[in-house]
Amino acid sequence: MPVCIRYACGNCGKTIDAWDEGNPYYLDDQGVKRYTRCLFSECSARLIGNDVPHLCLDCGEEFLVDTRAPVDCCPKCGSTTFSDTFRLEGRTCPYCKTGVFTCVPDFYLVP
Ligand SMILES: [Zn+2]
Ligand SMILES: [Zn+2]
Repeated sequence: MPVCIRYACGNCGKTIDAWDEGNPYYLDDQGVKRYTRCLFSECSARLIGNDVPHLCLDCGEEFLVDTRAPVDCCPKCGSTTFSDTFRLEGRTCPYCKTGVFTCVPDFYLVP
């Protein structure tokens, strides 16, 4: 079951929402990437990859990392300090460089 949680910076209040399962996808008959969260039918059998949201901890760029084409640095600034958005607990906020992200306790979404 996909779960959405929210992290917030204790200093500047910047929030990041994260899906624990990223964006699973398959390729349709035309080879076009299609996202689906439906994991209980024949589409799940066709899933071949996952675009996982990441946050650069240096410049604050949010970007997707394709599990079929992983990257080892931020596409914007080239930093190797980045994290997937579901594991931001305790990481330093890249926007104010002062606060740290903590999980917002009452924010818990299940689609
Ligand atoms: Zn901040
Ligand atoms: Zn960056």
